[in-house]
Amino acid sequence: MTIPTLTVVDDDIDLAHLFKEVAEDAGYFVQVFHDGTAFQNSLGDTSQIIMLDLMMPGMDGIEVIRSLAEKKITAGLVLVSGYDKSVLHSAHELASESRLNVIASLTKPLKITELRDLLVDYQNTHPIETAPKARKKTDITEADLKRAIENRELILYYQPQINLVTDACIGVEALVRWQHPTLGLVFPDAFISLAEKSGLIGDLTSLVIQLAMEQNRRWRDNDLKLKISINVSAENITSLSLPDQLINLVNANRLDASSLMLEITETALMGELVKSLDILTRLRMKGFDLSIDDFGTGYSSLAQLHRVPFTELKIDQRFIMQMEKDHEAGAIVETCIMLGHKLNMKVVAEGVETQGILDNLTRLGCDIAQGYHIARPMPAEKLLEWINSRTSQ
Ligand code: C2E
Ligand code: CA
Ligand code: CA
Repeated sequence: MTIPTLTVVDDDIDLAHLFKEVAEDAGYFVQVFHDGTAFQNSLGDTSQIIMLDLMMPGMDGIEVIRSLAEKKITAGLVLVSGYDKSVLHSAHELASESRLNVIASLTKPLKITELRDLLVDYQNTHPIETAPKARKKTDITEADLKRAIENRELILYYQPQINLVTDACIGVEALVRWQHPTLGLVFPDAFISLAEKSGLIGDLTSLVIQLAMEQNRRWRDNDLKLKISINVSAENITSLSLPDQLINLVNANRLDASSLMLEITETALMGELVKSLDILTRLRMKGFDLSIDDFGTGYSSLAQLHRVPFTELKIDQRFIMQMEKDHEAGAIVETCIMLGHKLNMKVVAEGVETQGILDNLTRLGCDIAQGYHIARPMPAEKLLEWINSRTSQ
């Protein structure tokens, strides 16, 4: 069996020693560094966990985070600080934005049991890979993806959205998956950015919209009336023919434009705004609904909301997931709900993972919820079953 390695970087010698004991107890081989520079000089990607003190003389934790990001270190990162929570919070954000894998941020003094549980859990959920995978998903090429779109290897999973007042399922978000002949089910994170970079996103989105509308027609034929939300990339909303293409598809499937919600991320809107504004306004005039997705992660929120005729605001799941534990995230969620309502939009919370969060959102007057606590994304044929099992309860 391979023993997992944990690295402690903390200038406090006693505390570093204590962390070492706890981690060894939890089954780790432990290395200790008392300053950032020494740690950085020895840095390879061999540790499973790095525990990093933010406040150290010389190279501080923030500088270490930057250098971990440059080296694309994949270890689980535990941030530790004696500072107030907001500093830890900002460091956590910085590290996540830099694509580091932050697994916890802890304030001193630490609860030893909490730390031990965290380390044991991590080991159970992230066993060390002993054999390399036959072929990594990151090896996917443009040619593979092009073929997949042509061969219709892309399929849609649907995640339910419920009305928080009536509890009824009123819509679904269509989430693309690639049913790969050898890799199995591949998630969008592995191919959407490739599609965007290589110019395949137009064809991909067209296929997704077509599949979703055909499915919606089948549901309607079974008396199930649902609104389908579809994710649209920045590149899609620069195509001037998009509104007409969509209208043709809606007509071909005997649907209304209002059966489709187009989700556009806040960051996608920051590019060629003038052209997008033209297209988005025409889409809205033709009766399609527009949702601003991942709200709160972009930089131009208020101005965009005012200029683009959005009908729905979808609060980024990061805020929802943290709202119970993190006071600031809770305040952001509450403010987004108020803002959306003032601007006459429906507000959706995604990433709802617990009943407590669901109750909180209902209390705050949020309109719609989506998340693993309600249901995971599922194939179309499972959805009818899921809805029936809910209504019969
Ligand atoms: P998104 O639009 O923010 O979609 C929500 C993601 O959160 C989905 O991941 C969904 O499975 C996941 N999710 C939903 N509820 C929960 C929850 O309670 N907890 C957690 N941890 N996760 C939850 P998925 O399907 O892997 O999609 C990832 C992203 O890929 C999407 O993020 C979207 O940006 C993109 N994507 C998916 N389908 C399409 C598509 O057809 N076209 C484009 N352009 N992008 C797509
Ligand atoms: Ca979305
Ligand atoms: Ca989202």
